[in-house]
Amino acid sequence: MTDFVLPLPAIPSVAVADSSERFAVRRIFCVGRNYAAHAREFGNDERDPPFFFTKPADAVVDSGTAIPYPPLTANLHHEIELVAAIGKAGFRIPRDKALDHVWGYGVGIDFTRRDLQDEAKKAARPWDWSKAFDRSAPCGPLVQAQDSGHPQKGRIWLAVNGKVRQDADLAELIWPISDIVSICSEAMELEPGDLIFTGTPAGVGAVGPGDTMTGGVDGIGTIEVTIGQPK
Ligand code: MN
Repeated sequence: MTDFVLPLPAIPSVAVADSSERFAVRRIFCVGRNYAAHAREFGNDERDPPFFFTKPADAVVDSGTAIPYPPLTANLHHEIELVAAIGKAGFRIPRDKALDHVWGYGVGIDFTRRDLQDEAKKAARPWDWSKAFDRSAPCGPLVQAQDSGHPQKGRIWLAVNGKVRQDADLAELIWPISDIVSICSEAMELEPGDLIFTGTPAGVGAVGPGDTMTGGVDGIGTIEVTIGQPK
């Protein structure tokens, strides 16, 4: 038994639908762009291969949480995304086996300090400060793939204060879930507990204190998050 000099940190986790058990989170991978219309709104070629960035595991927060407006930004953007939760380890997973490694799915928001990201892009600096900040990865309850199936189409949407801003279909994903899992596993040995945020459709925009975001993916679930005053 190892002794530690300080109390052990809490294990980050996300809720599981219709269960009191939770899904322990190991790492968070995010796809940089994965819907053609969103890629175009940022002036990118939609045929580029997918790229990834990461967030710390403890960036997850549950649906229903009030999130203080984060520091260092005046342009906090919402990005609604389908989240794939890895349940089985794999390295260099073939595309036709990739879905066997997905335990379940959820609906997440990839919060982005867009102003910091714009500066980072210009200066060719890392994205961590724009993407990987505290509470930047809200994720709603996971549904098990054995119950939901592996979604290939279905509405993905997000509304701010009841007004729909993002409204697309999973069928518009440039790289489907199987490709994303397979490609991610070429770079990293995936393990149970890894989450993959699979990219956002067009319509991203700014939110501020007092704004409530509701979003969902048909057949998977919903999420609701409110932005509070800065700390
Ligand atoms: Mn994103």
